[in-house]
Amino acid sequence: MTQPLFLVGARGCGKTTTGKALSAALGLHFIDTDHWLQREARMTVAQIVEQEGWEGFRARESQALQAVAADSTLVATGGGMVLAQQNRCFMRERGTVIYLCAPAQVLAQRLEASPEAGLRPTLTGRGTVDEVAQILAERDAIYRETAHHIVDASLPPALIVEHVTRALAQGSAQPLCAS
Ligand code: ADP
Ligand code: MG
Repeated sequence: MTQPLFLVGARGCGKTTTGKALSAALGLHFIDTDHWLQREARMTVAQIVEQEGWEGFRARESQALQAVAADSTLVATGGGMVLAQQNRCFMRERGTVIYLCAPAQVLAQRLEASPEAGLRPTLTGRGTVDEVAQILAERDAIYRETAHHIVDASLPPALIVEHVTRALAQGSAQPLCAS
């Protein structure tokens, strides 16, 4: 495969973790847009949001997406990457998009267990399960319409890698841009 592969999904679905395993299995370079933009800005996501607001962060996120999307690359995106129609179209047209889909409870458990979870400011100021459920309710349809393939992300990483590999072998849907 030469076109880039994009992983989308809510925080905690495993875009970074599974993305690394998947890129190793497929022989692709791995890039995480969150890591890329933090290195570029020399600020953490929390600092960017504090200084530039979510709007500033989203602009940097779109720039990061365009900058890292190269052939033979697997791009792990931030959870909100799909919010901008420009990003959705870009990913669908430039490569293949995989939605790592998991229920809110699984996502919340992972975020609470992960030491990194506290680094990003909360979007709603509510508890983890409530917040994750709300974000998923708002975004699940967007992740689905952006993706060429939807994979169950509550499975162990090795199985997710298998499922994605199989989905890719079956070919991808037409690169149309929805909405
Ligand atoms: P994302 O990049 O989508 O926000 P991460 O890859 O950072 O998600 O994963 C969030 C947390 O969940 C990490 O602690 C990671 O170890 C754990 N995790 C990710 N994928 C899985 C999985 N398939 N099974 C179990 N735990 C996982
Ligand atoms: Mg990540």
